[in-house]
This record gives sequence, C-alpha cells and structure tokens, in this order.
Amino acid sequence: MDLQTPLDKASRVYKMYSRRLVKLGILKVEDFIYHFPFRYEDYSLISKIAKIQAGETVTVKGKVIEIKNEYTRRGKKLQKAKVADESGVIDVIWFNQPYLTRSIHKDDIIYLSGKVELNIHKLVFMSPEHEVEFSNDYRNIHTGRLVPVYPETYGVSSKWLRRQTYKILNDHADEIVDFLPSEIINDNKFFNLKESLLQIHFPDNLENVEKAKERLSFDELFLLQLSSISKRSRWKKMVTSNKFDLKKYKSKIEEFISSLPFKLTSAQNKAIGEIFIDLSVDKAMNRLLEGDVGSGKTVVSAIAMYLAYLNGYQSVLMAPTEILALQHYKTISDLLAPFGLKVGLATGSKKLSIINSQFSILVGTHAVLHGKIEFNNLGLIVIDEQQRFGVEQRALIRKKGNNPHFLTMTATPIPRTVALTMFGDLDLSYLNQMPIGRKRVKTWLIPPSKRNNAYEWIKKEIAENKSQAFIICPFIEESENMITVRAATVEYEKLKKENFPKLNLGLLHGKMKAKEKDDVLAKFRNKELDILVSTPVVEVGIDIPNATVIMIEASDRFGLAQLHQLRGRVGRGDKQSYCLLFTESVSEKTIQRLKALETKYIGAELAELDLKLRGPGELHGTMQHGIPKLKIASFSNFELIEKVRKVADKIYPQISKYPLLSEKIESLTSKEISPD
Ligand code: ADP
Ligand code: MG
Repeated sequence: MDLQTPLDKASRVYKMYSRRLVKLGILKVEDFIYHFPFRYEDYSLISKIAKIQAGETVTVKGKVIEIKNEYTRRGKKLQKAKVADESGVIDVIWFNQPYLTRSIHKDDIIYLSGKVELNIHKLVFMSPEHEVEFSNDYRNIHTGRLVPVYPETYGVSSKWLRRQTYKILNDHADEIVDFLPSEIINDNKFFNLKESLLQIHFPDNLENVEKAKERLSFDELFLLQLSSISKRSRWKKMVTSNKFDLKKYKSKIEEFISSLPFKLTSAQNKAIGEIFIDLSVDKAMNRLLEGDVGSGKTVVSAIAMYLAYLNGYQSVLMAPTEILALQHYKTISDLLAPFGLKVGLATGSKKLSIINSQFSILVGTHAVLHGKIEFNNLGLIVIDEQQRFGVEQRALIRKKGNNPHFLTMTATPIPRTVALTMFGDLDLSYLNQMPIGRKRVKTWLIPPSKRNNAYEWIKKEIAENKSQAFIICPFIEESENMITVRAATVEYEKLKKENFPKLNLGLLHGKMKAKEKDDVLAKFRNKELDILVSTPVVEVGIDIPNATVIMIEASDRFGLAQLHQLRGRVGRGDKQSYCLLFTESVSEKTIQRLKALETKYIGAELAELDLKLRGPGELHGTMQHGIPKLKIASFSNFELIEKVRKVADKIYPQISKYPLLSEKIESLTSKEISPD
C-alpha cells in the first residue's frame, strides 16, 4: 500500500469504508492527507486536577481509578469514571458509550480533554475526548493540543479520520516529496510540503496553521495555473490547416454587419476583433466569450461562422437544450440564410432537416455528435453554455473536423480572477456592455421606513402602466423546504389582505405540483394576476415582458450576482422596469454592498465584487456547475492569485528542470483532451 493506492485496493478497513469516503472526496490513500480540517478544537491547556475551574476547557493526564457502566432510571446507559493525578481526583461522565468500558481500563494512563462543569458542588468532566496512553513515547492526537476537526460524513467521524491521517502521515512520510522548486519555497519562506501537511493536521500552534495554509493554498492555485498554462501551450502547439482569410472577405463581413438592424456595441466589436485575430492564424482558437444574458453573444458567433463559411468551412453551434437549439436555429437562419448559407438543425427529436453534409452551419443539441452526421470540412465549433458540455463531448466534436477552432459562450457571471485561474487555458473575451438603447432595470435600495410608500408606488405603477410585479420572499434555506414555503405563504396572505386588497395576487413556490405552477404562471402571463409572490429558489426563467417591477425581500441574504440574475426577470419588454431591494440590515457595509446594484449592471463585475466583499461561498449560488471547489485556497485571495500567476508564468518555460513538478502537471492534465 502506498499513497497512490486506491481505497478499494487498500487495507480491509479502507475497503469497507471506501463508499463512505468517496463522499468526502477520498478515493486513494493520499486523499486522507489532503482532506483538510476546517477548524481546530483547542485542548492545549493542560492542567492539574486541583487547579481546574468550572467552565474551563482543559486537558488533564491521570490514572483511571475506576470505570463502570450505570443505568439511569429511564434505562439509558452512563459511563462513569474517576481519574486521579498527583493533585486530586475528578469525576468523568459519558452518555451512551457502553463500549468505553472495553477500551478504558482501571490503571490506564489517560488524557481527557473537554469542558469541566459544576455538578452539585462537584467538578465533572462531561463527555470529554479521551485518549489512552499506550506507551511512554505516545504522542496524543485527540487531546492535549490543537485538535483538527474535519468535514465528516455518515459513519466517518473526525476522530476516525484523525487516526488515519496521523498514521498515514507517519507511515508514508518518505513518499511525501516536495514538488515545489526550492527557490519558490525559499523566496516565500514556505514550510516544506511534509511540514505543511503535518502542521495543517496536527499544528503546534495557530501561527503554524496559517503558515501551512499559505503554502498549501499556494500549491493548489499553482498547480491549477500550471495545468492551465500547460493545456494552453499544448493547444497552441497544434498547427491547424484552417487559417481563415480575413482580408479577402473584409468587405463581405462589413456588408453583413451593416445589414444588421442594430449597431454592434464596442464590446461586441472588440470581441469580434479578438476572434478574427485567432481565426486568421494557423493555431486553433480556444476562446471563451462571456456576457450576461442579452449582451448579444449570438450575433458575435454568427459573424465568426460567416467568416468560416466564406473560407469554405462548415460550422457547428451546440446548445445545451432543445429549446435553445431551436431559438439559435431561427436566429442564425434569419441572420445568415439571406447571405446564401444553408443552416441545418439536429436535435434529439428533429434530425437533420437538409441533406446530410450539405449545410454551412449545423445548429443543434449534442445530437450533432450523432455518428450518422457527416461533416465535409468542419472549421469552427461554437458551444453555448460551456459548463454543461463535458470534456468528452468536446473531444468528440473536435474529431469531426481537422483541429477546428473553438468558441465557447457563457452567461455565467464568472469573476475575472476565477476565470483566469480555472479557465486559464482559454483566451477570454468579455461583453462587458449591453446593447445601447436597452433600458436598464432601475434599481433602488429602499429604507424600511419607506416600505409603505413602495407598496403605494407599486400599485400606481401597475395601474398607470398596466404592468405587473414580482415580489420575491426572503431567501431562507438553500433548498426549498417547508419553512420557506410557510414563510412565503404567510407573506402572500398578508400582502393580499393588508397591502394589495384590490389587486389579484398569485403564489409560486417549489413545493407546488408542476400543474399548479403552470396554472399560476399562465394566469400571470395572461394578466389575470397583477402580482406574483414567489420564493427565490423557484425558477422563473419564463419571459413575462409585461412585468416591470421586481421587489426583493431580505436582499442582504443574496449575493450581488444572484440579485442581478433575479432582476433580469424584469426589463424584458419595452417599458422601463424597476427593482426594489429591501433589507432589515443596518450594517453600513451591507448597505454599501447592495447599493452597488444601483450603479453596476454587469454580472461578472458583480460576481467579482461578491468575492471581494463576501468571500467565495457566494459563488456557488450563481456558478452552479462546472467550477471545481477549491480545497484550501480561496478565489477571494486576489493577492495570492496574482502572485501565483506571476510565479507560474516564470516557472513554466523551464518546467523540465523540475521533474517532480512536471510529472505532477502531466498527470493532472493527461485526463483532458490531448492535441492529437
Ligand atoms: P445572449 O448574449 O444572451 O445570447 P443574444 O445574442 O440572444 O444575447 O441577444 C439578445 C438580443 O439582443 C437579440 O435579440 C439580439 O438580436 C439583440 N442584439 C444583439 N446585439 C445587439 C446590439 N448591438 N444592439 C441591439 N440589439 C442587439
Ligand atoms: Mg444566448
């Protein structure tokens, strides 16, 4: 057994536990030592029994003079012990741990850690952590020190994990070889790898925890960054045959752009410029186009596909759902069919609508991967919503052409720092600007004293503009449960009775049956309802262009990017729309944070601000899938990310000088598509 042994091939115990451990991300022996504690119990205060004060958290070392099971009147088992040191004796009580009398014996030397309480004039250790000293050189891990507490799962306790980790760190110490170049360790005064791992699990003091974290966070980001650079450089090394001629078709492209019913935004123009540069060299493009919903990504991709067509190449546009594919099919056909392009459609239910391989552009879901579809000369692949397409699918579609160019589009508000770390292998274009003339959703943070005025204002808005409103109830729990539903129902009843007695209100929450939801939404769409009261987790992805007001309760509980996505539910029609934010919070910081929504309208910028102000927890609400969670580093540590990027850029060109490091990067990136 070594650190790389998978658990199901390791010892009997690990085999037995392997299914549970998977839930903690522990698949092989080494993963134990990379399963980091999230806090420490401070049991480092060691005291003589006579000196203990009630309420103290302490550790004592003593001899067991008695241990026994006792039954309470209700039939519960208690374990009672007396432990003595040279200064005195103390009582110990555990509840319902009958097996203790088998592992703790009279005359054992024992460590006890925990809180000491006063029980009718007598000091008692209540359910302390304990640890029996088996030998003279015994080193304690559960008591008498800073004790690590780990993320646990059913049947896997911190105590158990602690024991495994300690044993593995000792037994396999020789296998822990530092892969970080020594100049980096020296320059940063880092602990070496072994020391970092020892100190993160069994720290001598809290400063050492910080030092260990610094080193291990650096490692995590550094390996990510180097992997990105390595993937990127491998990608750049593949020479592709399809270098698109831009000069020759400049006037045609201009003609197409001027045929559009609108003027491109400068962000779109910039992105197109970046894409054209990529397409006109003999390396395959691998670019991520990020922009909020409505920022106009489709037309950017259409222009790229038109250039491919002019150069004699086919393109594919892949969307994650059939509905999106159909939408794209219509948009792309409307835009490009007048210029002579043949646009095909392939979805699960709709097979190719024009003769095989005769299309200039094929739009579809992953059905475009179907073996029967033949490509003549696939030169450009556009993927909408990258998170949902796996590495394998990308590899599959790539094989349909000869090193085709890749353009990936996403509306996920990925902060720049995160994108640079996670997607460092992609080039980035940001549409950080919405089309001109698009009305912004006017956003106000409303002080609690103006609540009634706001209700009056909403009534007026509904009456005068014949529009409708959403009221979003407070965010209570991550997944919608009965508490959330009850709160929403109470709020709905109150609004109906007290605030909007003359209007028609509807309620929408996640525990409703699909049919009920559809009914309410249909009523809202048909304007039978004026106001839709909804829980925040309900997906109101539907388009109700007549709704112009969204009021959000307890907005402080949301991340800014989440609030931005919520307010995107209005402002879909021609009328001016409004977002009214409420909060009970009086914290100046919270208020300033929310006020950012009054002036900022770009999802990625708001997500970046979330990171700065609230930390990385916020990302999960908006980024959902596709972004691996960091184990120890934090995306909000901008300074470290910056430093890591600099160091990685410097090291990469000479990475062959560091065989351990390059081996590690090799193994991290080998699972991904390699340029074939
Ligand atoms: P998304 O980035 O969400 O995919 P779309 O490409 O679907 O956005 O564009 C949203 C709408 O905006 C479409 O109706 C599109 O025609 C329109 N649009 C795109 N670019 C502009 C622009 N520069 N000016 C005005 N409208 C635009
Ligand atoms: Mg789109």
